[in-house]
Amino acid sequence: MKTVGFTPIPERINRITDVAYNLWWSWHPEAQELFKMIDAQLWEDVYHNPVLFLSSVRQSDLDKAANNADFIKAYHEVLIAFDKYQVYEDTWFKQTYPDKIDKPIAYFSAEFGLHECLPIYSGGLGILSGDHTKEASDLGLPFIGVGFLYPQGYFRQVITHGGDQEAIYTKVRFAEVPALPAFTPDGKEIVVSVSLPARNNLPDRQVYAKVYKIQVGIVPLYLMDTDIHPNAEPDRELSARLYGGDEEMRLAQEMVLGIGGVRALRKLGIEPAVWHMNEGHSAFMVLERAREMVDSGKTFKEAADIIRKSSVFTTHTPVPAGHDAFPFHMMDRYFPTWHEDLKISREDFLDLARQDQSWGPSFSMTVLALKLSGRANGVSKLHGDVSRKMWNWLWPSRNTDDVPITYVTNGIHTETWLAPELKTLFDQQFGSDWTLNIDDQAMWNSIMDVPDEEIWDIMNQLRARLVDFIRLRTRQRMIRLGMHPNEIQSVKNLFNPKTLTIGFARRFATYKRATLIFHDTERLKRIVHGSGGGPVQFVFSGKAHPRDEPGKNFIREVYYRSHEAGLAGHLIFIEDYDMNVSRNMLAGADVWMNTPRRPMEASGTSGEKAALNGSPNFSILDGWWDEAYNGKNGWSIGDVDAQYNSEYDQNHADATSIYETLEQKLVPAFYNRGDDGIPHEWVQHVKESIRTVAPQFSMTRMIKDYTNDLYVPSME
Ligand SMILES: *Cc1c(COP(=O)(O)O)cnc(C)c1O
Repeated sequence: MKTVGFTPIPERINRITDVAYNLWWSWHPEAQELFKMIDAQLWEDVYHNPVLFLSSVRQSDLDKAANNADFIKAYHEVLIAFDKYQVYEDTWFKQTYPDKIDKPIAYFSAEFGLHECLPIYSGGLGILSGDHTKEASDLGLPFIGVGFLYPQGYFRQVITHGGDQEAIYTKVRFAEVPALPAFTPDGKEIVVSVSLPARNNLPDRQVYAKVYKIQVGIVPLYLMDTDIHPNAEPDRELSARLYGGDEEMRLAQEMVLGIGGVRALRKLGIEPAVWHMNEGHSAFMVLERAREMVDSGKTFKEAADIIRKSSVFTTHTPVPAGHDAFPFHMMDRYFPTWHEDLKISREDFLDLARQDQSWGPSFSMTVLALKLSGRANGVSKLHGDVSRKMWNWLWPSRNTDDVPITYVTNGIHTETWLAPELKTLFDQQFGSDWTLNIDDQAMWNSIMDVPDEEIWDIMNQLRARLVDFIRLRTRQRMIRLGMHPNEIQSVKNLFNPKTLTIGFARRFATYKRATLIFHDTERLKRIVHGSGGGPVQFVFSGKAHPRDEPGKNFIREVYYRSHEAGLAGHLIFIEDYDMNVSRNMLAGADVWMNTPRRPMEASGTSGEKAALNGSPNFSILDGWWDEAYNGKNGWSIGDVDAQYNSEYDQNHADATSIYETLEQKLVPAFYNRGDDGIPHEWVQHVKESIRTVAPQFSMTRMIKDYTNDLYVPSME
């Protein structure tokens, strides 16, 4: 089959290509194990990309595997599970909504974070879309994803000697990732087009996008690429980078996503019953759907009613400036005849999304989506409140509470983020079918019955694995920077696998206050050296947007602090935060810290992943944590009711809260060991964290909420 460019694969194991081309492997460690068994070093060298692996592997290693009884046994077990998954009949969706199985849900998102080998995500939004897609497959939803395949993806980060973030863009060759061209029902490759106006030295023109397909379990994901031959050079760059380019480029990108995405589904012969806009980037889809309906004889008003009934919109941004909005003069250039096509006036067209800004009237993607979706939601309880306030002006006659924006709190795809060591424990404790019942609170309650020493033993393993990872990544960086062999040698003693380890990793946006712990650096130094009863070490990671200078300054500060006397050896910055770094950090950290300025964190999900892996949260009561914190499953930072006169005062109060909790509660709980050497109080926090967060903040719970409250009502 798809073996073009592959090392010839022995007949006996040739279905390994089926596994490679279905992202199912990304949440089944036993499938990844097959590649490791063939050549573990190559698996690392290709950054866990099975397609690149199969085109680079040595023939002799494949032959050896095909003749190895252990490999063949593992191979057959994986294929049995894989095949069973594809045809599984008793999915939650099918059992719950048997008459809705032929009503497709089209989910549009600008990014999908599926795995580190597909760099088409930048952060939380993308990871959420990737997790959403995987869970839709697990629960058997009739689900289809639509987005972009960015040839240069999001940047890889390197930190220079001087602590500066450098962005490196590498070109992804689509033949080397688990993506294949998509075909129409009668076997033709799919190319869609969108008209763009003249710009610089380009005339009015069509921009073309080729459609690729990525298989995620039973869910197809269709991704558009504009880097194809008929396009002029600047248009080929349109989908080159995630969030690259200027405002014109962004508008054009969003036209390809929203309008091109609808056209791609048409060519595929897919007729969605529900259209979900994940964030406003794809909101132009409603215009294209209206254009189609008016073209076939409906009035705009009739079309808008149908669109509202069948559309769902999720907003993710509690910051007004974070919502895309384009000046009217740009809309006039990019959509010159659209009002005629919709048989409405230019003013009515622009009013569909009008938001008056300080700089003039704008066409807001969020307003467009809110006005043309029957159902809209924020991503946590608190963010629902914030969103209703923020958009109350669109419904001036309503009280804030009656603004039609509900909330569904974000969750995480458990099997993607769970450390294999814990999976083994859960298999024993809950039975091997536990992954079918992830949102079952009663099941998770029994984690409390696991002996403390078993949990503690796993926590020690995970921390040690993180310390190994830190040493590996630090060594790789030092080699890249050409540092002296003696310095490189010293990495083998970097960090201590027995020391309380606090993780902090996320986008370096300033509201997340990555540098808050340096508020009183001398006090921090005392803490890392044991003022709370034992030492503490901090691991940081995260990228700043390439144009976010304050964010990059924060990275520089963390980097410099990690070399400062008194902190060096107790604080480290790991470069190039991605899903791989994230998985290692949140499994191995003992505590996961988050310090946003409330209520700027819409939800956050990294803390949910950490909690699942036995790392209690130590965070500001913002986003999801505001709902989850119960006094036993972690620690809060700051006082939610306090009012501050300045950002400095708030930082001072929150930093003081961090130091006090570390010294008086958190560090003592970790180092207070019983006669058996086990910190029993600590292990209680770990268990309570898993017990409360794993079911309630899972993607299973989230997808069921979306389905019951938003998707199914939209189908009816
Ligand atoms: C989970 C995750 C995020 C989102 O987490 P936040 O809590 O929103 O910061 C971002 N990037 C990566 C790589 C992740 O794994």
